[in-house]
This record gives sequence, C-alpha cells and structure tokens, in this order.
Amino acid sequence: MSDTLDGRPAAGLKVLFVASECAPFAKTGGLADVAGSLPKSLRLRGIDARVVMPLYRGIAWDALDVLDGALSVPIGGGISRGRVRLGHLPRSDAPVYFLEHHHYYDREYLYGSPTDAYPDNLERFTFLSRGALQLCKALGWHPDIVHANDWQTALVPVYVDTVEWAQALHGAATLYTIHNLAYQGVTDRGALFLTGLGPEHDNSGEFEHFGTLNLTKAALAHATLVTTVSPTYAREIQTPAYGYGLDGVLRSRAGDLFGIVNGIDREEWNPATDPHLPARFAASDLDGKAVCKAELQKEAGLPVREDVPLFGLVARLVPQKGIDVLAHALDRLLDLDLQLILLGTGDPEAESFFAQVSDEQGDRFRAWLEFNNGRAHRIEAGCDFFLMPSRFEPCGLNQLYSLAYGTLPIVRATGGLADTVRGYDEARGRGTGFSFHDLTPGALFDTVGWAVSTWYDRPQHVESMRREAMAEDFSWQHAAAEYERLYLLAYERRRKHPFAPTRGLSSTPGVPAPSRPVRPPARQRTAGSARKRGRLRA
Ligand code: ADP
Repeated sequence: MSDTLDGRPAAGLKVLFVASECAPFAKTGGLADVAGSLPKSLRLRGIDARVVMPLYRGIAWDALDVLDGALSVPIGGGISRGRVRLGHLPRSDAPVYFLEHHHYYDREYLYGSPTDAYPDNLERFTFLSRGALQLCKALGWHPDIVHANDWQTALVPVYVDTVEWAQALHGAATLYTIHNLAYQGVTDRGALFLTGLGPEHDNSGEFEHFGTLNLTKAALAHATLVTTVSPTYAREIQTPAYGYGLDGVLRSRAGDLFGIVNGIDREEWNPATDPHLPARFAASDLDGKAVCKAELQKEAGLPVREDVPLFGLVARLVPQKGIDVLAHALDRLLDLDLQLILLGTGDPEAESFFAQVSDEQGDRFRAWLEFNNGRAHRIEAGCDFFLMPSRFEPCGLNQLYSLAYGTLPIVRATGGLADTVRGYDEARGRGTGFSFHDLTPGALFDTVGWAVSTWYDRPQHVESMRREAMAEDFSWQHAAAEYERLYLLAYERRRKHPFAPTRGLSSTPGVPAPSRPVRPPARQRTAGSARKRGRLRA
C-alpha cells in the first residue's frame, strides 16, 4: 500500500486528536495507549498531530505550561469557563492541551466510582468535546481532521457538522473511532439541551435510540468516517450479537467503516530492554526467557520447574474477558500437568472465587488480585502460554505483548484476537498461537490441552512458533500509515478535493487558513513568572 492515497506525502496535514484519557497522564484502558502513541507516530510521518484531554486530578499540573486567557464553552444555555495547560507526550514534540475545569475534572475517578458513573458526565464531556473545538479557534489552528474517540468525545463530529457549519472549522473532516462499543454514552433524552443542540436533533437518525439519548449513535450519523480497532471487530459490530443495539446504524455506514489494529509501544513492551524483568531476551537468544520463567515461578510461590508449561492471564475480571468460562473450566484445567498465574481486578465474586482456588491449589495456580504493571510485564515474559478467552475483544493488547515476548497466546477467535494470532498448524509446526471459536469451558479446555500436548510432544514446534511470534510487527508506524490513509480519504470526502501538501500553496477559497509547516506551539517565558506560559489567543 502506498503511504497516501495519491502516493504523495501528507506533510502539513493537521490532526486534532480528542480523547478522554491518554497515557501516561490518565489511563483506564486501551484508549489511553492509543492516544499516547498514535499522535507520536503521526508526527514522525510529518503530520501535525495534537492531543486534547481533560486535566484530571493526579496529573502533574505544575509541570505544564499555562496558556493565557480563558476558554469559554457553551454548556446548556450558558457559558462554562476553563483554562488550558500545555504539555507534550513523553519523548516527543506532540503537544497535549489539557482542559482545566476544577468542578468537572478535579475528582477521584475519570468517569465515576467502580459502581456508579458520575451523574453529570454528559456535561463534563460536552465541555471536553466542544472545548476542544473552541480551543482550536482560540489558537487560530484549524485542523484538517478532528479525530474523536468513544462516547466521551462523540459530540465532536456532531458539532463540526452542525454548530461549526459555515464557520471556522467547517472544512474539518471527522474520524470517529470506536474502542469498545459496549460503552455508548446513554442518558435521558431530556438532557440534550446540555449539549447546546436544539430539539431538532432529538430524532432517530441522530441522538434518539429506543427512547434514550445515545451519543455514539449521533457520532455515527455525523462522522465523515468511522473506525474501530480491528477489521474483524468492524465486521462483528454490524451483527446483532456484537452490535449492542447499534448494528443497524453501523450497517448503514458499512462503506465508511474501517478496522485498524492498534500498535504496541515498543519503548514500554520490549523483552530486550524491559526494566521490569530479571533478565532480558530476544528471538535470537532466549536464555533470558528461561530465567524470567524461573523467577516468576518463585515470585508466585509455584514449584520452579522448567519442564512444566506455565500459563498466564492478565485482565480486568469482567464478563468481556470470558472469566466466567475460565472459572467453569478451571478445575479440569488444573488436572493437567501445567501451572497458571492470573493477574487481575474486577468483579468481586470473580476475585473471591480465584482467591479461593489459589489458596486450595497453590502448587499449580496463583491469583494476584491487584493492578501491578511490573507483574504484568513479568507474566508476559516468564510464561510459555497466555490465555485470552474473550467474549468480545475490539483489539486486545495483551496478545500483542505476548507475541512480542515469545509467549504463545491461546485466544478465542474474535475481534482483534482473530486478526493478530495465527492458529497453530500442527502439520507444519507453523503459527503464532492457538485459537478456538466456541465460548464454552469445553472448547477452552480442549485448546489448552492441545497446547499442553504440543509442549510435551512437539517442543520443536513451540520453539519455532515462538520465533514466528516474536518476528511479528505490530508497530504504531504501521497503524499510523493506515490512519493517514483514512485521514486523506476523510479530507477528500469533506472538501470534495484531495489533500495537497500546502507548503507554498495558497488557500482554497472558502477553506480555513492554509496549513503551515509542522512546528511546536509557541512557548514564552513571562517576566515575573517562574512558569512557562503560552497564549490561548494567537
Ligand atoms: P482492555 O483495554 O479491554 O482492558 P487490553 O488487552 O486492550 O484490554 O488492555 C489491557 C491493558 O491493561 C494491558 O496493558 C494490560 O497489561 C493491562 N492490565 C489489565 N489488568 C491489569 C492488572 N491487573 N495489572 C496490570 N496491568 C493490567
């Protein structure tokens, strides 16, 4: 595939990436990893990609520059005011604009407590979505593409298509990415006024969905293009089984819906450099992996045995991850000659079940019921196999980490798992993992049994699959090239002409200010202030 639709470089393309979380600043899931990585890779391609996110509690506020001036955002019938701070993605010049609003964002959690979402989430994320566009206008920086992600920023494509119509951001194309369709931003229809949009939008082609107000549905109606995080999930969500009620809407946009598999951050997940490991290794020298296995067995209080296959699982303990299926298969699995380490937090019943089995069968099963990044790394490195019996999996990152660490994933063939793991071909000893289709304890047991028999009977196949897995390339460079291709397509759809690198070209009549060469935003020191400041108004 050429880098761009017309084979020309997309230098000068301006992309605003709006997200409710972004690693390393704030993270609850895979969206944060995408927001923290993709913009960096886009910038390496000459694209002026910038991020907007809320300034949550827990972010190092004082390390950020404060931009002068207030940000005014229409909310309901009034105006809500905030400020903007500026930072950068680590090891990059990618600007991150943090919207500061104490009442909305200076809270313990991002979206709500483990049991209850914050009741004013619509207002909070209206401020983010509309605020991101207000910010662009205040900066005088008009993006060619606004890339919104999940329900928290679902209003972005709606605003660009409505209140920005014939205004400064009219020329912006919008891309809406679904990271997990199970979360859609559903609330009472009466709350629509908070968005500042009129009752004419309360219809079944936009916000109204079976008597509720559904932000994702409105985004699907207005976005120039829609993406999700794997091609298989893009197909699955068009079916009733995976569509969470929006499959019909998604089918109606089938021609505009694309799947792009996430990359992994090789600075964070690389067995040759990983600081969390007791020893490092690479495909060319796997000695370090054996050390990691022995140390992991010690850390988990399991017998240190090189000859037994060690299985790992790291996940949120929720139905999406097929934890119930594992629980039903666990007794039989632990009758096989294997060891299993589980790391996860989530449903209290699941936690107490696994804690009990861990107590009873501590010679072969260990449950660590905590969030522990170091242990997640050590499980990926020290295990021989990795379990992901997911009910659905938009992309999944853990199987990608497993491949990179030579730990063969055992996955249910759904979503991104189906797209990234190549099932074992026993005749040729090829493949990068094991996959199964039926979400049943029997199918999981049979597949684990297949892996165990491969371990004992065909060790040369485990070795060759390991090398094959470690040779896979799930880098962000590849995903960024795919996004760039879609940005150019979205641009052309919106403007009715292809993107032309604008260096040296004058602006097209009716189209906002010409692109300038990529340059980090101006920073200046204000006399009398120790803190670096920029300006909100250009
Ligand atoms: P999802 O986003 O659905 O939770 P992914 O596989 O896409 O699933 O990403 C999960 C991320 O969270 C991975 O980086 C994984 O290592 C990490 N993770 C999940 N649970 C834990 C835990 N208990 N401790 C440490 N890391 C965890």
